[in-house]
Amino acid sequence: MRNNSRLLIALQDLEIMIREMKDKSNARELEDMGFEISGLEELEKARSELAEQVSPSILNRYEKLAKRYKVAILPITGDKCLGCFVKLPTSFFSSSSADMLLTCENCGRLLYIP
Ligand SMILES: [Zn+2]
Repeated sequence: MRNNSRLLIALQDLEIMIREMKDKSNARELEDMGFEISGLEELEKARSELAEQVSPSILNRYEKLAKRYKVAILPITGDKCLGCFVKLPTSFFSSSSADMLLTCENCGRLLYIP
């Protein structure tokens, strides 16, 4: 099984693309720029295929967050959560490893070490 954080990041990217395509003014802009917007179905298919590979409990958490926030999973850079800008506790870093998903105690967003 592939790394959940990588899967979720790809999933989130796809969802952002799908959302942008569904936004009509944005779709027109994309068309003007020469992008095909007929690929929406393929994107949605890719999204569901990707979602199937994520552990159900993690997917469930991600989907709840994605409803609340535009960005549900973020890389950790520095010592703050990039979602809510609250400083993360040091214990956070000592107990974490590269392929672990962490949760911001303040906003609940999923965090990963890039
Ligand atoms: Zn946060």
